[in-house]
Amino acid sequence: MSDDTHDWTSAGFSTRAIHAGSDPDPTTGAVVPPIYQVSTYKQDGVGGLRNGYEYSRSGNPTRTALEEALAAVEGGSRAFAFSSGLAAEDTLLRAALRPGDHVVVPDDAYGGTYRLVARVFGPWGVDHTPVDLSDVDVVAAAIEPGRTKMVWVETPTNPLLGVSDIAALAALARAAGAVLVVDNTFATPYLQQPLALGADAVVHSTTKYIGGHSDVVGGAVVVGDGAQLPVGLEGPTGTASLADAVAFHQNASGAVAGPFDAWLTLRGLKTLAVRMDRHCSNAMAVARFLREHSAVTQVIYPGLEDHPGHAIASTQMSGFGGMVSFRVGSREKALDVCARTKVFLLAESLGGIESLVEHPGQMTHASVAGSALEVPDDLVRLSVGIEDVADLVADLGQALA
Ligand SMILES: *Cc1c(COP(=O)(O)O)cnc(C)c1O
Repeated sequence: MSDDTHDWTSAGFSTRAIHAGSDPDPTTGAVVPPIYQVSTYKQDGVGGLRNGYEYSRSGNPTRTALEEALAAVEGGSRAFAFSSGLAAEDTLLRAALRPGDHVVVPDDAYGGTYRLVARVFGPWGVDHTPVDLSDVDVVAAAIEPGRTKMVWVETPTNPLLGVSDIAALAALARAAGAVLVVDNTFATPYLQQPLALGADAVVHSTTKYIGGHSDVVGGAVVVGDGAQLPVGLEGPTGTASLADAVAFHQNASGAVAGPFDAWLTLRGLKTLAVRMDRHCSNAMAVARFLREHSAVTQVIYPGLEDHPGHAIASTQMSGFGGMVSFRVGSREKALDVCARTKVFLLAESLGGIESLVEHPGQMTHASVAGSALEVPDDLVRLSVGIEDVADLVADLGQALA
């Protein structure tokens, strides 16, 4: 039998996305990993596992293919695939935090992340402080020495597209003995590499750009090479390795990605680079169109020079992504725009090939109304898809007319 294994670590981004973890199947030569729709594996004598597979919560070859590809594209040492982005976050938080610990979170975090930290981990004794993560001094002031064990970063944020300086925040977290986590869902590993900038772990809702086709819910944790648990914490396997702790918790609580979901997500990941190029160019064209439109009072897109995070985004990202938010002066006008678009479908979620429009105040961010995370009620959020840009611009034009 030929040896089809190859080390892809020094290959370019798209080559890694397509080939890492996807060596041709040793039995048939299939060029895509099969969907191993199986729960258990025959052992060659008691404990005689073939390639370590024993039971599919602990490991499944289709999931392994996805996890190896995710580690390769983020430049991490290990990746873990989950049944949703929030399941990935939940597992990482449990692996790295204990009652009495404190977390610094963005004051415009993804609503579900905030709900998890505040309303699930809060009652279990983990405190949090929401701050403006784009202001390094504010983050430094919020860190409580000896008690803050994690700084949670989202950049760009949802839906206000705030940008924060990952390298500066990583240095702050490291000095405090805390771990720095970056939710890289909006930027994707194609546009932003948080581990190379000093983050300890990256989380994804792979439901969004990585899956990319609005047909699967999933999540991931990717751990940086040599990343450690917060200072002073010994993990469940007796080491300080963050990856070992996440691996233990993934198996212990079991919110793993199923084989078909892993396969769909891997299929999406392979085309991430070409999709992101088109998302970025379409979003830039849409942002420029909206900026010139008389019915629009503000356009928020990190690719525009007047965006407060433009300078940092330009150095930290290789493109500005596919999310554009804008304001139209009143809640009624915002709801009108959402009701009138035809190409942009009115729906939650983001990152798929089709364009979506939504009203964060009443949809994705309804759960944070009245909190520090409340968003303006005249805000409209777009997930700009990869359709023909002329059709997207024309659709927004008629909806705003
Ligand atoms: C959607 C999303 C999540 C949650 O992921 P699910 O797959 O919906 O559980 C977390 N962070 C960001 C930035 C998201 O957009």
